[in-house]
Amino acid sequence: MDNCLFCKIIAGEIPSTKVYEDDAVFAFRDINPQAPVHILVVPKQHICCADAVDAGNSACVARCFEAIAKIAKAEGLENGYRVINNCGADGGQTVMHLHFHILGGVKFSDKMI
Ligand code: 5GP
Ligand code: ZN
Repeated sequence: MDNCLFCKIIAGEIPSTKVYEDDAVFAFRDINPQAPVHILVVPKQHICCADAVDAGNSACVARCFEAIAKIAKAEGLENGYRVINNCGADGGQTVMHLHFHILGGVKFSDKMI
């Protein structure tokens, strides 16, 4: 997808600190970390947002969550972590390529739900 920041990161056109990659998933450290561990997990397939997930592309969401479990183990997050997806303007999404935030390395006290 032209002019998509995360597609360019996946392609290596924009540098990132990669922590995991397989045929379907790319993961890298967030440039503005909100926790000691803050990793973005993205499908290599360009999907704009959670709202665009359907029966034809949902397999890559499962692949993202398989990667999340592997990354969490590799990062030593055995006490737990938070996975966040922001969807659309009201959800606070700023990069329109589906991604999941892994936040960990600290015990979160504030809960939204
Ligand atoms: P969103 O707000 O869309 O859920 O999350 C986008 C995330 O991408 C933000 O946490 C932001 O810090 C991160 N981000 C934006 N631009 C870059 C970049 O160029 N490199 C990296 N590694 N992260 C970025
Ligand atoms: Zn993209």
